[in-house]
Amino acid sequence: MNTKTITSPILVTGATGYIASWVIKQLLEQGHSVHATVRDLNKKASFQHLEKIAAHSEGELRLFKANLLDEGSFDEAMQGCEVVIHMASPFLVTNFKDPIKDLVDPALKGTINVLNSVNRTASVKRVVVTSSIASTYGDAIDILKTKYNSFDESHWNTTSSAEHQPYYYSKVAAERKAWQMQQAQNRWELVCINPSLVIGPSLTPSTQSGSVEVLQQFGNGMTRFGVPQMWNGLVDVRDVAEAHLKAAFEPNAKGRYIINAKSLTLLEMGQALRDYFGNKYPFPTMHAPKFLFKLMGPLIGHSRKYVELNVGYPIYFNAQKSIDELGMQYRDVETSLVEHFQQLIDDGIVKKRG
Ligand code: NAP
Repeated sequence: MNTKTITSPILVTGATGYIASWVIKQLLEQGHSVHATVRDLNKKASFQHLEKIAAHSEGELRLFKANLLDEGSFDEAMQGCEVVIHMASPFLVTNFKDPIKDLVDPALKGTINVLNSVNRTASVKRVVVTSSIASTYGDAIDILKTKYNSFDESHWNTTSSAEHQPYYYSKVAAERKAWQMQQAQNRWELVCINPSLVIGPSLTPSTQSGSVEVLQQFGNGMTRFGVPQMWNGLVDVRDVAEAHLKAAFEPNAKGRYIINAKSLTLLEMGQALRDYFGNKYPFPTMHAPKFLFKLMGPLIGHSRKYVELNVGYPIYFNAQKSIDELGMQYRDVETSLVEHFQQLIDDGIVKKRG
């Protein structure tokens, strides 16, 4: 499979999303024709940025309405596509009410629904599923069980559930199901992309992605009195988009790929922002003690169990397979953080100061 030889349209699900928008931009700029699914064709504000990009690109964009929870919803958009990139899935950190309804059902039932359409659509030869590092581990403490002090593609999250780490559970359940459905047939290949926390400029101010939720906390005072000692794997959104295109077109792409540049603590993320923006914003200056965060956690959506198993354990991710097989070269994430925060200010999502 080679990007230049694929002339059939590429299907991208969840086209309004933060990462999907970059994937679609890169596809259109490379001259591909894109079938993009959105939940609501009347919410023009959520996809007008894509129409603008398409107007100035070589590739053609067609929008289709599809919902993860409606059976057969993706059939029409998939017609004639050789490659399907399935990205639609809720990424909510604390912003949800019912973990099953808001996270697990759309992720798992949605993946089954999309792959049932793939099974019905003879033209599809490869499916790229956007999974996450969340399907390689459940809690930071799991790092203690790894041989080389990093998570890699051989690791699976075996501890998350709808009650504990539901977003993580939604991702691992969906990825496992995708592999199971792929192995039950022999027409289409599956490649999974497992990014760490994605940061960097967004093409759309209307995304509800958890990536924005995390960065917003650095601007709204939530982190002013200290942050828990927690590490995040980080990667730029443009690199994640590029990884999807490579997974779609690279003939030898195979299996899962961790997509990650490097790990930083929340305090180091705050420091990178302070280095650029100075003291105008309430960036954190210290670590909050674990016992305090355990006490306060439930008030901001984190259970005591979550705090116990995740605070104080450095986590690292090994993205060597993506470098060796996909040729990934990762951007500097401190710059991505600054660019992203600046954009949240420009879009009015973080209040401008001074
Ligand atoms: P996002 O901007 O919130 O995008 C999520 C997309 O899923 C939106 O287009 C949304 O459509 C769609 N969606 C949600 N529920 C749906 C439903 N019932 N039917 C149809 N579409 C639905 O989030 P993102 O950060 O770009 O995430 C995209 C993918 O990357 C997800 O699979 C996520 O798990 C994965 N991922 C993200 C990160 C990260 O740090 N951002 C890291 C690892 C993996 P609407 O516009 O209609 O809501």
